[in-house]
Amino acid sequence: MTASQAPRPTVVLVYQRTSLRWVFDSALRAGIDIVLVPRPDESVSPDRLPPAVVDVLPLDVEGDPAKALGVLQERYESAPFDGITTLYDPAVPFVADVAEALGLPGLGSATARAVQDKRIMRRQLAEAGLNVPGFIVLDDPGAWAAGTGLDFPVVVKPANGFSSLGVTKADSAEQLGAVVAAVWQVCRTKLNQVTGLIVEEYLDGPELAVESLAHRGEVTVLSIGYKGEPTGPYFEEGVYRAPALLPPDVQDAVVREVVAAHSALGVTDGPTHTELRLRGGVRPYLLELGARVGGSGVSHYIAEHVTGADLAGDALRTAAGLALRSVPDSPTQLLRATGAAANYIVPCGGSGRITAIHGLDELSEDPRVDHIVQMLHPGDVVRPYPDFTGYPAFILSHHQSIEDAEEFHRSLERRIRIDYAPTGAAQ
Ligand code: ADP
Repeated sequence: MTASQAPRPTVVLVYQRTSLRWVFDSALRAGIDIVLVPRPDESVSPDRLPPAVVDVLPLDVEGDPAKALGVLQERYESAPFDGITTLYDPAVPFVADVAEALGLPGLGSATARAVQDKRIMRRQLAEAGLNVPGFIVLDDPGAWAAGTGLDFPVVVKPANGFSSLGVTKADSAEQLGAVVAAVWQVCRTKLNQVTGLIVEEYLDGPELAVESLAHRGEVTVLSIGYKGEPTGPYFEEGVYRAPALLPPDVQDAVVREVVAAHSALGVTDGPTHTELRLRGGVRPYLLELGARVGGSGVSHYIAEHVTGADLAGDALRTAAGLALRSVPDSPTQLLRATGAAANYIVPCGGSGRITAIHGLDELSEDPRVDHIVQMLHPGDVVRPYPDFTGYPAFILSHHQSIEDAEEFHRSLERRIRIDYAPTGAAQ
């Protein structure tokens, strides 16, 4: 059989948006065929499928996971696939369960839950002796007074949250009851599950995002990026620029903390996206470790432009049980940065019905800009915070240096503006 006749490995990719098309380009380069489980809110036209997608398999993973598992089992029997993965955080435990049920490579159910549930994550990090802020767990919003013994300010968040949904700062013990009640309400209305809350001490200092690849317990850090210094009370995502400029001893401490977190949580294989804050500018504290390519694929873009690594391609290859391509043979804990990359998340900057978005179109002419992913458009309604409607757009760009990326982001702050009409008036 010649190489061209050999069957290509096939991976089921759950809930990936096709608008982030570079993930599919990576699949092509990695030699992987994709069976796409589309996002329920995205219509995928069969004649305009992204490269590498050989089939589309609609499943209601969140609404009816048992049925979705059954469909995948049937599919596996009639047309076997080599792996299953997702970049969508809430689907990580489902994917781990399917992989376990079918005997495919995966995180394992227990690890998938440890990285998804902030209560388990905090306990396991603390047991392993890593830096953890004071925290308490609440199963009932009425028990909020248990948090008044923590050092204020504190941050209240859903135990199984994602995309900063509901995450809210409380400055004083007097505010805590009201903040807990509000976050509980977000869990009920937005997250489809009320599993509990975590209240933890606020960590000041710059926020970092770290992209890594694990392989048989060896962790390689591909990039360490800067995520701004958000102060709340709500934590809307904003900038991501990499590589972060850090003194060597702080950089080493970040790498040590991230590598140790992988073993504390039991993540031995696959991509991870870790967020930390550098307390006092020097001491790294994990916010969370996601066992997936971060930002629906943004993390792949950043890692690729900072170090040349193919994070999404290697994530798919890991899912199919194949060897990685981006990690050097001689183990290195941190790959050397050879370029800079950035993501600018256009802030909503208001609420109401969008009437115009200024400053986006002309960016497609800018040679530094590789992708403009627009999620909100004129006519869409943005509800006021703490409600979360989504981000208007991502602007992904590459640069010679991190200073160029900073300057570019300053210019975007001046140039991009969203106009709104009050929803009552426009309806
Ligand atoms: P999610 O999984 O919903 O994104 P995170 O725990 O990552 O929740 O929190 C979202 C954001 O809230 C973080 O990126 C950070 O900016 C802020 N945040 C969360 N916990 C803390 C904390 N203890 N101290 C300071 N900021 C925090």
